[in-house]
Amino acid sequence: MTLAPRPDLAFGVYIHFPFCLHRCPYCDFNLRVVREIPHEAYAEAVLAELEARWRRFEGRRLVSIYFGGGTPGLWEAACIARVIEAIRQRWPLLADPADVALAEAEGGDPIEVTVEINPRAAARPLLDALAQAGVNRLSVGIQSFDEATLGRLGRDHDAARALETMRDAREAGWRRLSFDLLFGGPGHTTDIFAEDLRQAAALDWADHVSAYSLIVEEATRFGKLKAGGKLKEADEAEVVEMLKMCEAGLGEAGWRRYEISSYSRPGREARHNSLYWVGGETMGLGVGAHELAIAPDGVALRREGALRTRDYLRDPVGSARAEERIEAPLHLAERLYLGLRTRYGVSVEQLRGQFGAAAAQGAAQKLAALEDQGYAERSNAQEGGPAYLWAEGERFVPTARGMLFADDVAMEVLPDEA
Ligand code: SF4
Repeated sequence: MTLAPRPDLAFGVYIHFPFCLHRCPYCDFNLRVVREIPHEAYAEAVLAELEARWRRFEGRRLVSIYFGGGTPGLWEAACIARVIEAIRQRWPLLADPADVALAEAEGGDPIEVTVEINPRAAARPLLDALAQAGVNRLSVGIQSFDEATLGRLGRDHDAARALETMRDAREAGWRRLSFDLLFGGPGHTTDIFAEDLRQAAALDWADHVSAYSLIVEEATRFGKLKAGGKLKEADEAEVVEMLKMCEAGLGEAGWRRYEISSYSRPGREARHNSLYWVGGETMGLGVGAHELAIAPDGVALRREGALRTRDYLRDPVGSARAEERIEAPLHLAERLYLGLRTRYGVSVEQLRGQFGAAAAQGAAQKLAALEDQGYAERSNAQEGGPAYLWAEGERFVPTARGMLFADDVAMEVLPDEA
């Protein structure tokens, strides 16, 4: 389906880099463990896919480019630079004034360009090469500062290397820095997590933290150990305790929780991740990359790139899985429960513009019911960030209870047949 130009819609490009040097036992991402990375071949495939499909999103307001994986920090910086350049040529600058102001204050770029890096491979020359390539935000996979915990998680770096990566990035002048914490894994106690949070608080030059509780997926090594009764996870009460510790500890250190698992300095919310929560569009390039396009009448189109790297390298466009059409009622429900994961919340006014008056009215009733149950509340607070994230006027935002029971909120808003 061809889509009309929509400069009002914020838009990001996600590039999936499906290679790692080893597989962590909890990871079920689409990736291949390799010794030799096909740098050039993969870049050529991504560029060919971009060239073949970019016009579907022509005229959009590009706000972010995100290299995720896998470990995209392993990709030669020259390949990353070519991809960034090719994307920027196709979407001339239409940045939001708030992003422009932030960039001007920092002498930077209003388009957020993120690469996920693993501390093991992130020495200073790599950081410099990425900056040179046009990357302006790093997401560092730290997970924990406790050596025994890192060992149990099967990570291939130690805590000292992670801290060194953060210090190097600071010294090299990186302003947009995020790091990940993972809690509730085997042997991870509240005492260890308290120390993790203390160490995190000392990284006060970072502007963003993603903190996730471990979910053991069946198809992983942890999943198999769990099935055989050989994996002891933190129990539910401990995980809830860690969640509370996280909010308190990171809050005291100046990061504000703006999504269930995401904390930032005010104004430094991750633009790319936020697009998924506020109903923006994302083009997905690469193996297994997810894409969401907004079609007329509230319909969304979801696409997923090829399952296997071999197939993608042979045919980067034709190897994708079949596109899925999300009808308006389900798309609207997704907007509700994703919006209610965040402080951006949900604006009924915005829904009216996209889904029509009757659907917005139905959504307003569901939101009022969630308000009655203590999951949501109304807010008119203006947070002062880009307009594509912070709607003007009244929004429904999650309460602390709504954040804690996000799965229950999702069940409440999903249509019966979903
Ligand atoms: S480094 Fe990240 S993407 Fe690679 S296996 Fe570990 S968790 Fe998965």
